[in-house]
Amino acid sequence: MKNFDANKWARPNIRDLIPYSSARDEFSGEDYIFLDANESPFNSGLNRYPDPYQCELKKSIAELKGCSENQLFLGNGSDEAIDLLIRCFAEPGKDRILSIAPSYGMYMVCADINGIGFDPFLLNSDFSLDPPTLLQSVKPETKLVFLCSPNNPTGNNLDEGAVRQILESFQGLVVVDEAYQDFSAKPGFLPLLEQFSNLVVLQTFSKAWGLAGVRLGMAMADPSVIAYLNKVKYPYNINQLSQDAVLKAIGEVDLVEKKIGMIVAERNRIMDVLQKMPGILKVFSSDANFILIRVADAGEVYRGLLDKGIVVRDRSSMPLCDGCIRITIGTANENKLMLEALVELVESNSL
Ligand code: PMP
Repeated sequence: MKNFDANKWARPNIRDLIPYSSARDEFSGEDYIFLDANESPFNSGLNRYPDPYQCELKKSIAELKGCSENQLFLGNGSDEAIDLLIRCFAEPGKDRILSIAPSYGMYMVCADINGIGFDPFLLNSDFSLDPPTLLQSVKPETKLVFLCSPNNPTGNNLDEGAVRQILESFQGLVVVDEAYQDFSAKPGFLPLLEQFSNLVVLQTFSKAWGLAGVRLGMAMADPSVIAYLNKVKYPYNINQLSQDAVLKAIGEVDLVEKKIGMIVAERNRIMDVLQKMPGILKVFSSDANFILIRVADAGEVYRGLLDKGIVVRDRSSMPLCDGCIRITIGTANENKLMLEALVELVESNSL
């Protein structure tokens, strides 16, 4: 069991912060006359502030994820958790974060917004991770390491042994972003929470749960780390409509599993078709709900598909992603139209 001391690693002003205390922090309960929060007394179903700590929802998510409620932070998307982790544990103008590259762009943007140095660490050309070299790239000012598994935009899982090596040797927080884990056949990193108090796992309701519009993300970590995120979040960061929508979705988990099964089956089928398609130089194996492919001219393929009404993501400017296009898995019909459009581009020699 690794002993990460959150108080020692927290930004000093955040460690010393006296957080805002809302009316609902100071008194909660039912069957009272609430005249304490300057709310409207006229019941519309939404006239009251939502529970600031989302107790009912957290109970339900904790059960689903097999963690305890004090190991769970809920944010306005996992983007909020990324931002708050950086804000709580890195000091502007002094500290740095390190992130694998290529990966999700918000790690760098949040570092930039917060005045935190950003060090990209290049994956191997097959997008695997080399822990000894990563650990050598860590500077004395590096407070957090961001990993992403399955990684965006590459689609691959990170090797468990490699992540363990980083958790064991890096003294600061290791964030593993698992936004796409629900699509993966391999186990994620949640079981390691009991062994590593410097591990933070991020997940979201935006992808497999089909609730991107709701904005609900999760950070799961040691209670001492979660307490810091709760200390700095906006008092009512998850609105009532979102809390209700996620509770309802969790009650219908079978439906979600069915949809995940459909997307995974489509992903595997499309990977096979693309592998046989002339003009596609490489199809990277994916454990997510998207596939990264390499073509000779990504810009031309992007524009060619757009002309046919299909929007994909040109990722060719990202490190190691020369000629790469990222295609999200859609419905069977959308995927059929996408594949037909690619074939037309091959036949017209655009590919
Ligand atoms: N992490 C990764 C790896 C992502 O790709 C995304 C969204 N594209 C997010 C986090 C953000 O998720 P959310 O909608 O929960 O903010």
